This record gives sequence, C-alpha cells and structure tokens, in this order.
Amino acid sequence: MQTIDGSQGEGGGQILRSSLAFAMVTGQSCRIENIRAGRKKPGLMRQHLTAVRAAQAVSGATVVGDEIGSTQIEFAVENPGRVSGGEYHFSIGTAGSTTLVLQTVLPALMLADGPSVVVLEGGTHNPFAPPFDFLVRAFLPALEKMGPKVRATLDRPGFYPAGGGRLSVTIEPVKKLGVMEWLERGETVRRSATATVANLSREIAERELKVVRKKLNWADECLVVNEVCDTPGPGNILTLEVESDGGESGGGGGICEVFTGFGEMNRPAEVVAKQAVQACQRYLSCGVPVGEYLADQLLLPMAIAGGGAFRCVRLTRHTQTHIELVQKFLDCQITTESHGRDGVIVRVS
Ligand code: ATP
Repeated sequence: MQTIDGSQGEGGGQILRSSLAFAMVTGQSCRIENIRAGRKKPGLMRQHLTAVRAAQAVSGATVVGDEIGSTQIEFAVENPGRVSGGEYHFSIGTAGSTTLVLQTVLPALMLADGPSVVVLEGGTHNPFAPPFDFLVRAFLPALEKMGPKVRATLDRPGFYPAGGGRLSVTIEPVKKLGVMEWLERGETVRRSATATVANLSREIAERELKVVRKKLNWADECLVVNEVCDTPGPGNILTLEVESDGGESGGGGGICEVFTGFGEMNRPAEVVAKQAVQACQRYLSCGVPVGEYLADQLLLPMAIAGGGAFRCVRLTRHTQTHIELVQKFLDCQITTESHGRDGVIVRVS
C-alpha cells in the first residue's frame, strides 16, 4: 500500500482528492496521512468526507478512517481497474464544494465500464474552489478534447455559505484519454462578463460590470446581468470568460479561461470586480493559453493520458504539489521549463 503524506507541499484537500483519483484509476491502494495538515482545521471536513465516500461508491474500495476530523484514511482498492459507471447521488450536507467532489470521481468515471449520471448537492459557487461556470466553460471543454463526453447542468445554484445547490453531470467514458497540447493562445474569439446576483440587488451586478467596461474596455454586448432567486442564501459572483482559438500551433485548438470575483458581506462590488479583472489582465498580458487554476487541474488527466503539455502563467503551490504527487502514482515524467516572461511550459511524458 502506497503511503501519501497529506502535509506535503500545499498541504490541503487536493492531495487527498487527487490521491483517491489516482488510486481508482491505477488500482493502487493507498494510505493518506496528515490529511490537510497545512490548514487551520486539519482533517476531513464534510466536502472531503463526501469525496472519500464518493470514491468508495464508484470503485467498491474498502475504506478505514472515513469520519469527520480524521487525519488518516486507508483506501484499499478491491478490484483494480474496475470502476462502475452508473447513477450516483452525493450530498455534502453543507456548502462544501460540489465541483471538488466531482473532480475526485470524474477521472475514474471517464474511464469506467459504462456511462454515468452523477448528481451532487452542496455549494456550486464557493471561493477557493472551481465555481460551476469555471467547470462548464473552462475545465470540462478542455477535458472533452481528451476524449470523454462530460456535460454538467446547474439545477440550482448554491452560494457559500448557505449552499443548497445542485448539479447533474453525465459522463460518457472512453477506454483511454487522448494526449493534448495547449502551448499557444492565438486570437481571442469571444469574451464575456456575467455578474450574477442571487437574492441581492441588481445594482451590485451593474456596478461590477461598470468596472469591467472601464478597465477591460469590453463592449456592452459582452456584459450580462444574471438575476437568480431560486437559491437558499444570497450570493454574488462575477465571471469573466476569454475564449481563444489556440493559434496555428496550439495543438489543442481553442481554450476558454474563466476568472472570478466572489462577493461577500461588506465587500464592495468594485472590489469584487477588481479581483476578477486583475486576474484576467494578468492572463491577457502574459500570452499563455492556460491560467493558474486550470494548470493544476489539467495535470491530473494529462498524467493519466500519459502525455501532453501546456504553457501557463506560473506554477502555483497547488500545481507544484500535484506534480510531485502524480509521480508517486504513475510512471510518468513531468518537466517544467521557464518560457521567458511568458510563463512556464509543463510537459508530461
Ligand atoms: P482545503 O484547502 O481547505 O483543504 P480544499 O479541499 O477546498 O481546501 P484545495 O486543496 O485548496 O482545496 O484545492 C482547491 C482547488 O480549487 C484547486 O484545484 C484550485 O485550482 C481550485 N480553485 C480555487 N479557486 C478557483 C477559482 N477561482 N477558479 C477555478 N478553480 C479554483
């Protein structure tokens, strides 16, 4: 049984989720120690526990230590290589991130013995996690270029801290993931800014879009106000999308990146907008196709595919931790090469 130290590198929930994903895909059992040792409240929180239970449900693994607060689990894969497609329902019970639970089981279900429908309940728009819009516009389209068909629908938004959201995902698996490269960004073919307000004044969204218009100089037809009322708590999120054609040597063709500003109590709309706008400006000025969040999330499917490359803004601690973890489970080499002031090329071989 492989032992993974959850305190390594970034020391958060990603080490747990990715270890479970790799364990299911490679059929290697693992013991994960010091879970989330790098966080103020270490151990399994509801989102992480749901991820462990979800991994158990799809793979039939035997799990020890799966309780709230636990800092160690054992995940014994009983039938290596057997992950069952089917209908699954995972409810976090708090506003914990549904997209992160999905990312735990998605790699295995993309390679499962049949299609799946996964329903997840909890938070769909959480700070420090991929919001639903990032999942459907940036991550899943990139993943689909590797072969599987993965479609997600937002049944009901759930904003942190109230939660209560629901998303449904259909997955048509493949036998093997394809190898992809995203090295060039090329021309921008679409840009849009959506300011969503749930049970809050429309004026907040309008103020956010005013900042986008002024700082990014985007035309009015790219700016959308989205008013939502079928959600338990209040919420506000500004998402900026930039879709590019990948240039001539992009390999992967187009790519879409999503930048987010999260509203919270006592945080002026202008500050929320600035968070997203500055992230977008950094990306645009750097000329890379892959932003910092997509970089750490693409590494996992690329490692499973056994090859691929991308150019990204910079290596975050999440990405660096992922690079180290991947090489514990898979016989693949990951190299990073600085590309002047235009970011870093990450290659999986
Ligand atoms: P904890 O750190 O409390 O254990 P966690 O389990 O929620 O938290 P992390 O280990 O910090 O998670 O991983 C968070 C993941 O969410 C990373 O893969 C990161 O790329 C992604 N992420 C965070 N913010 C965004 C964002 N705004 N857009 C897209 N992805 C994001």
